[in-house]
Amino acid sequence: MPALDVAQFITRNDNFAVLLHDPESGRTVSIDAPEADPIIAALKQRGWALSDIFVTHKHLDHIEGIPALQAAYDCTVTGPQASAAETGMYDRTMKDGDTLDWAGRRVQVIETPGHTLDHVSLYFPDEKLVFVGDTLFSLGCGRVMQGEHARMWESLLAIRALPGDTALYCGHEYTLANAKFALSVDQNNSALKARAAEVEKLVRDGKVALPTTIAQEKATNPFLRSDDPTLMKAVGMAGERPAAVFKAIRTRKDQFKA
Ligand SMILES: [Zn+2]
Repeated sequence: MPALDVAQFITRNDNFAVLLHDPESGRTVSIDAPEADPIIAALKQRGWALSDIFVTHKHLDHIEGIPALQAAYDCTVTGPQASAAETGMYDRTMKDGDTLDWAGRRVQVIETPGHTLDHVSLYFPDEKLVFVGDTLFSLGCGRVMQGEHARMWESLLAIRALPGDTALYCGHEYTLANAKFALSVDQNNSALKARAAEVEKLVRDGKVALPTTIAQEKATNPFLRSDDPTLMKAVGMAGERPAAVFKAIRTRKDQFKA
C-alpha cells in the first residue's frame, strides 16, 4: 500500500490542521476542522478533494470549520459518540475499541478522556501514525477540563503504550512554552535539555516542532514520566501514586508563568 501524503500547517493562532491523502483512492481526511478557509486553500493547492473529517473532541477550535467544509466538499464527518448529540455535527460516530476502515487502512479509536469527556485519539497502526488532539502535546499535555486527573493519566498511559516509532501529531503547537515548564520540573533530564534546545532552534527558524514520536515523548515529556522514580523525586513525591504525581505536575503547569 502506498504511503499516505501528510500536510500539516498552523491555523487560527496555534491549532494544527492535518490532512492525510491516499494517492491510490484519492481520499483525503482532515483531522479536526479548526478553520475552513486555510484547509480549503491547502486542499486546492495540492489538487485534493476532502472526503472525510475525523473529529477528536468537541471544542470549537476543532470543529468550527465543519459546516463550511461540508458546503465545499461531499465529505463524511466522523466524531466521538459521546459528543454527537451536543454538537449535532457528525454523520457517523466512533467510540473506544472501534476500528474504522479509511481508504483500506485500519484506524483504531482509543478513548482518551480528561481534557474533555468525549476525547478520542486515532491510531493508524500500519502507517505508524497517531493523532491525539488535545490529550498530549509535545513536552506537555492538555488541560484537564472535564473528568478526573486520574482518568487523564489513564489516557496518557494508553497513548504511551503505542510503539515508540509511532509519529505523534497533536492539536496545538505549544512546544516552546511546554519546554520551559518541563525544564522547571525535570532539569536534570539530558534528553529533555537536548529536545528543548532543538525546539528553540526550530521555532527561531520559523519551523514547527511536530510531529514528534512516542519514544521521544516518553524520554522528555514530564507528564508521561509521572511514574518515573527520577521525576517523582525531582518534584518531591518519591513513592507516591503516579496519578497523584501527574495531578501535582498538571496543577503546577496550570499556574506556571514562563
Ligand atoms: Zn480542546
